[in-house]
Amino acid sequence: MSKYAEVWNLSCPRADFVRRAFVNGTIAFSAQVPGVNCSECGNTWSGHRVLPFPCSSELQQLLRETTELQPVVSLSVFQTVKRQLETYFADLGRDVVIEPGDVFVPGNWSIPSIPRHDILWPILSKPVISARLTQLLDQSSIAMSKLNIARVGHREPTDDIPHLTNGEFDDDYFLEHGTSMRENVGEFFLIHITEPITYQPARFSQSTTCRECGFVFADYDPAAFGRVSSELRRRQVIPKNEAPSVEVFSHFAFDGIMVSPRVYEAIAGLGLANCIAKPIRVSG
Ligand SMILES: [Zn+2]
Repeated sequence: MSKYAEVWNLSCPRADFVRRAFVNGTIAFSAQVPGVNCSECGNTWSGHRVLPFPCSSELQQLLRETTELQPVVSLSVFQTVKRQLETYFADLGRDVVIEPGDVFVPGNWSIPSIPRHDILWPILSKPVISARLTQLLDQSSIAMSKLNIARVGHREPTDDIPHLTNGEFDDDYFLEHGTSMRENVGEFFLIHITEPITYQPARFSQSTTCRECGFVFADYDPAAFGRVSSELRRRQVIPKNEAPSVEVFSHFAFDGIMVSPRVYEAIAGLGLANCIAKPIRVSG
């Protein structure tokens, strides 16, 4: 439960996808666990977790071969992959339960304009921060992973977006002459939200989990959920029992991330460009 009377909600300025990708770039991860078509519970699914640690190059290769062949696999194939990964991590002393769709760091970041901000949003729920910002944060309280900078374009974030054919995002078009600059942009880190987002099912339903694939059935009323979420956004408040005492977390009713007053001060000290920042009261 939170020790703060107020936290800050930081999110990406509203913009269409192309503008957002132009300023913030996109991340491709080194390896992804395939989705599963579960014969036990009947669900075909793939989650959105980014695990903040790498797997071996052999396992990356295995995952690439598996997902290239079939992005969604049968339960038995999934369980074989899951066992291999979990055994590998157990040997390293890391207790992890693999889920369908899990991806591993490092992320490979491509950005069409030169990164000039200390906080960027290639993924809306997991910001990227500059090396100088990491130095202002207590790194023991926030999980982060260094990004591989794959390609950097030569434009400025404030530039007009060049004319697009079909209105579609085209990496090669935006990144033309891009590779030569990547040594000069410094280091950037992806923030990982480690606090599990358990509040939504806990608040709205009894949930059950498929014992074979890990799918969570949360039997809740989407209309009631929508009403509560929009009411919290309108009042700019979250209940104390939905605000953990960590420096960075997420909340189902709000975009982006929640940060402690101390983290907010550190970020604000560098200027809050490329961020929408709102104070959120923690009540009860
Ligand atoms: Zn299942």
